Amino acid sequence: MIYQRSSALFVEAKKYIPGGVNSPVRAFKSVGGDPVFVERAKGAYLYDADGNKLIDFISSWGPLILGHAYEPVINAVIDKARLGTSFGMPTEIETELAQLAVSMVPNIDKIRFVNSGTEACMSAIRLARGFTGKEKIIKFAGCYHGHSDAFLIQAGSGAVTFGSPNSPGVTKGTAKDTLLAQYNNLESVSTLIAANKGEIAAVIIEPVAGNMGCIVPSDTFMDGLRKICTEENILLVFDEVMTGFRVGRGGAQEALGIDADIVTFGKVIGGGLPVGAFASRDEIMAHLAPEGPVYQAGTLSGNPLAMSAGLAMLTELNNRPEIFESLNKKTTYLNNGLASVLTEQGIPHQINRFGSMISVHFTENPVVDFSSSAKGNNEFFRRYFHGMLEEGIYLPPSAFESYFLNDAISYKDLDHTIEGLKKVAPRLV
Ligand SMILES: *Cc1c(COP(=O)(O)O)cnc(C)c1O
Repeated sequence: MIYQRSSALFVEAKKYIPGGVNSPVRAFKSVGGDPVFVERAKGAYLYDADGNKLIDFISSWGPLILGHAYEPVINAVIDKARLGTSFGMPTEIETELAQLAVSMVPNIDKIRFVNSGTEACMSAIRLARGFTGKEKIIKFAGCYHGHSDAFLIQAGSGAVTFGSPNSPGVTKGTAKDTLLAQYNNLESVSTLIAANKGEIAAVIIEPVAGNMGCIVPSDTFMDGLRKICTEENILLVFDEVMTGFRVGRGGAQEALGIDADIVTFGKVIGGGLPVGAFASRDEIMAHLAPEGPVYQAGTLSGNPLAMSAGLAMLTELNNRPEIFESLNKKTTYLNNGLASVLTEQGIPHQINRFGSMISVHFTENPVVDFSSSAKGNNEFFRRYFHGMLEEGIYLPPSAFESYFLNDAISYKDLDHTIEGLKKVAPRLV
C-alpha cells in the first residue's frame, strides 16, 4: 500500500500541530513510520487519504461499538444540530440520557456529564476526596485515567509510599498524593494502605485494563480489592471509560459482579462525540455543586449534539443487548484464529481478551500487569503492525493498547484478518 498522501499531510500537520497530532498515540511513535490519515469511515471500514480501505480494529479507541457512521447516531446528531448546537442552559435530552444510563448501570443513582474521560476521572477523584475528607489516592501502574496531573504518576524510586511525576509539568506536590500499586497484586494495595493508614480517599482502577494491552483482573484480586476498600472506608472508583457500555449493558461492574462506589464513563457513552461522565449513589453525588460543596462545571457539558449521539447509542445497546454476546463470540473467534496461526509458526505470544477487548503480546509469559506487558517484544510488534496494515488491517499502533471490535465487523473480515496474519507471521521473527 502506498501512503504518499498521508505522509504529505503529516508533513503539513507537523508545521502547525506539535508532532502533527492532537493525541500522541496517533503519531505511530512506537511502531515507526508515518500515521495513516483517514478521510471517512463506514461500518467496519476506514477509507484513508490514499484511497485504501482498511478493516478497523480500534473503533475510535472504543466509542464506535456499532461501527462507523451508524445511521441512528448520525441522524440524531443532524436533527439536533438544526435546533442549535449549544445553549449553556438545561435541556431535556440531558435528563433522558442520564435516566437511561442510570437504568443500565448497577449501583448508580445520579450521573454528571462532562466532555472527556480525562475530565470524568479528574472530577471523580475530587468528589472522592471531598466526600471522604482524605487526600491520597491509589492507582495501578499501567492503568490510564486520562492526562490530568494526579494520574501522570510513576512508581518513585524504591518508594512504596509515594509516586513521582512521569511527565514534566506534574509537580512533586501532586505526585506525593498518588500511590502506585501493581495490577492483580492485592498485597501491593494492602501494603500501601497500611503505610498510609486513614489517609486514602480512593482506589481507582480500570476494572478490565485496556491501556497496557487488555488485562483481565483475577477474581481474588477484585474481590479482595472491594473488601479492603470497604473495611478501610476507601471509595473504590471503577474507571469504566473503556469498559462502560462495552463489556456488557451494565459495564464491568455487572460483568465482574463487583460493586464500585464511583464509576466513570467516556468513549461509548458519547457515541463518537466528546462525552465523559461520572456517577455514584445519591449520598456521594449530593456532595457535588450546586447541591454540595465539591466544585465541578463545564461550558459545553451536556452539549445537545453529544447527548443526542450518546442517547442514540445507548438506546440501541439497551434495546439489543444481544450485541454484547455477538461481539464476545466474534472476539473469541478472532482470538482463536490468531492464536492458532502464531502457534503454528512457533511465535511466542499471549492473547488476552475480555468481551470485545483483545490484545496480542509477543512474550512467553502471562501478561497480568504493567511489567509483564512491558516485556513484550516490540520489534515483533512493529513488524506485525506494519505487516497487517499492508494486508488492509488497522490495529492499534502500540503494543500497550487494546483492540476494540465493533458490531459491523463480519466473520468475513475476521477471516481476512486471520489470513493476513498467516502472511505476516513468517516475517515477524
Ligand atoms: C480513554 C481513557 C480515558 C481518557 O479518556 P479521554 O476521553 O481520552 O480523556 C480514561 N480512562 C480510560 C480507562 C480510558 O481508556
